[in-house]
Amino acid sequence: MATKRDYYEVMQLHKGASDKDIKAAYRKLARKYHPDVNPGDTNAEARFKEISEAYQVLSDPQKRAMYDRFGHQAFGRGNGGGQQAWDFGNFDFSQFGRHINVDDLGGMFGSFFGGQQRAANMRQPIDGSDLQYTIDLSFQDVLNGLNTRLMIQHDAVCEHCSGKGAEPGHDLEICPNCQGSGQVRMSSGFINLGIPQTCPQCHGAGRLNSYPCRQCHGQGTQQQTERISVKIPAGAENGSKVRVAGKGNAGRNGGKTGDLYIITRVQNHPIFERRGDNLYCDVPITMSEAVLGARINVPTPFGEASMAIPPGTQSGQTFRLRGKGIPHLKGVGRGDQFVTVKVMTPQNPDTRTMELFREIARLNPKDPRELAFAASQSG
Ligand SMILES: [Zn+2]
Ligand SMILES: [Zn+2]
Repeated sequence: MATKRDYYEVMQLHKGASDKDIKAAYRKLARKYHPDVNPGDTNAEARFKEISEAYQVLSDPQKRAMYDRFGHQAFGRGNGGGQQAWDFGNFDFSQFGRHINVDDLGGMFGSFFGGQQRAANMRQPIDGSDLQYTIDLSFQDVLNGLNTRLMIQHDAVCEHCSGKGAEPGHDLEICPNCQGSGQVRMSSGFINLGIPQTCPQCHGAGRLNSYPCRQCHGQGTQQQTERISVKIPAGAENGSKVRVAGKGNAGRNGGKTGDLYIITRVQNHPIFERRGDNLYCDVPITMSEAVLGARINVPTPFGEASMAIPPGTQSGQTFRLRGKGIPHLKGVGRGDQFVTVKVMTPQNPDTRTMELFREIARLNPKDPRELAFAASQSG
């Protein structure tokens, strides 16, 4: 094993350096040798580890005192032999890289330590959540589209502190207990067991807020009611989603603001049944209209339309009215309307009508079931 360099030498410090000197030296060297700044440079990476290790010892008064007294042997690893003053068992210096104080570096290396560290640090940006509102649309709203205004409640950036969470003129301070990392190592006496724990002083935030904003109580966001304009395009369906960008909840610590989604709920029409952009309806016709043919008026979403019934029309026959359906949500034009005719028999026919029907029956003796069920009878 190669001989370890003296920690003071690594940090370019003299033995009597103050805590402030140590911190300043660390900041300077860590910025210079950080792997993010020197991608692929193994020498820089080795230097960075060396610096981190030295800093972990020298920045901790107990560890520093032991190091001053016993040198590297104080930590059970070092010059490859000789008497060891203290054996920390499975304490592993390679772990050091993980609990370097990210925030000490001004956040510029935040990505280096990966998800676990970031999740534990509550000062990381948190994106705001999306919001959902349901809006009821009448059949007319679907046909024409709808421009409306909506009152929404969402978390917005606090205007009093501009989202910082502290009263104007005050800043959040780096937590002195964890130096801003949000984590501390569990200690037993002066033996550091190296188990990371959430810092009890800042609860993992890494920052202390001594002057919390009196409007948002340090949250940085506040619930607000806002009136927003909403445009629902023609042709919306039940459950259509309309996105209003940036009107969801505000993020924290510089996180993105969420979006607002308006979900449409379309009322049923008493006459028209909608399938896609087509409309379906039943229209009653008389027996004479069915037999003789006729021109009738049928309801459409755009008022009454004239429709030809050809002679000999059967009950249940369907006719198409082009372009009388719902506007296409994407693109131009509209769907169609389909009209299914229902032949109605005369209600309470008088004797003369009954007489005429008997006459008709004699003139039309053909059994319509003969043809309808011909296939099953021959089979
Ligand atoms: Zn505020
Ligand atoms: Zn802390």
